[in-house]
Amino acid sequence: MAKLSDETRKRLKSRTRLVTAGRKSEEHFGFINTPIFRGSTVLYPDAASMRGPRPRFSYGTKGTPTTEALELAWSEIAGAAGTVLAPTGLAAVTLALMTALKAGDHLLVTDSAYLPTRHFCETVLARMGVETTYYDPLLGAGIESLIRENTTSVLVEAPGSQSFEVQDVPAIAEVAHRHGMCVIMDNTWATPLFFPPHERGVDLAVEAGTKYLGGHSDLLLGLVSANSTWYRRLRQTFDAFAMCAGPEDAFLALRGLRTMELRLREAEKQGLALAQWFAARPEVKQVLHPGLPGAPGHEIWKRDFLGSTGLFSIILQPCSERAVDAMLDGLELFGMGYSWGGYESLVIPFDCATYRTATTWNPGGPGLRFQVGLEDIEDLQADLDAGFARLRAAD
Ligand SMILES: *Cc1c(COP(=O)(O)O)cnc(C)c1O
Repeated sequence: MAKLSDETRKRLKSRTRLVTAGRKSEEHFGFINTPIFRGSTVLYPDAASMRGPRPRFSYGTKGTPTTEALELAWSEIAGAAGTVLAPTGLAAVTLALMTALKAGDHLLVTDSAYLPTRHFCETVLARMGVETTYYDPLLGAGIESLIRENTTSVLVEAPGSQSFEVQDVPAIAEVAHRHGMCVIMDNTWATPLFFPPHERGVDLAVEAGTKYLGGHSDLLLGLVSANSTWYRRLRQTFDAFAMCAGPEDAFLALRGLRTMELRLREAEKQGLALAQWFAARPEVKQVLHPGLPGAPGHEIWKRDFLGSTGLFSIILQPCSERAVDAMLDGLELFGMGYSWGGYESLVIPFDCATYRTATTWNPGGPGLRFQVGLEDIEDLQADLDAGFARLRAAD
């Protein structure tokens, strides 16, 4: 097998990239996968090399062949200048924020952001003297009216956590860059396969690898990829925190990467099938799925995204909490628990009204968020059908 030339690599399609990226079998005796390197100390050959420039591997926290393989692969998939790993998705969000911000800055964050991201802004960032303003996720270029002299960064998340509004990321990035700001995006839902972040104007893109990259609910991991403007600063901040990912998790993520497109395409198919089934149910008031016409930001999704995934929400017709609980508690195939992106189906009840500040959340009925797994769709529908019968009986 000849080595992949740079010209060939440049024109590879994403599926081929997922198979070839980050592999260096010649460095480990021909074995296809980079093994798990565990280690703190890295030995230097002599005193002179200890005084010289930092070698490729210098200490466990700075990286190993396992973490480097994943970083290189992810940079190639995301179209980034470089990537760093973090122990969790939330740690990756905080690392991106700490890369971009300094004391006295003003930060714009979408009102639809992942709740623990908000919590970080309201506690740690507030203590550090960074002020956060939340904005309507459907604001688009109108975000310009919120920019102050000290506004240095904006954090977008599209689609929104739980509520699934799709933001106009290119329009926000255009405005932000005109004001010299850094654009951070939590791109966990789409992954770079369905939303190439840096091509769309994002400077620092965050992925909770815990979700679709891992794909099996058995690891915690975060990734931050950067364009060439921000990569040096990102790597410097990563080194300063030494908040590194575990070797087994990096290995499992590399394994997950190889099948990520296949799993995402299946998640897309299953997600749309279930979303359309919900849309035809009398118990359902609204389906919040970016791929369905009428969902908030659907037209932007069609323009900017290359696919949809298996996480979406529904709003039930008004009914009692007792009825919702009767539906949820009897489900046999949908587990109740946080996180998503694995092979199994999940559901959680949610209410954005408890924390939103820039927008009013009043959808007119209880909200349920679904993660659709790889089960047969008819089995899932039968489980939900029985659930709706319990809901009607208890209301
Ligand atoms: C799950 C999630 C995270 C955090 O990932 P963890 O690995 O659980 O910390 C961040 N952002 C989004 C959008 C998520 O869904």
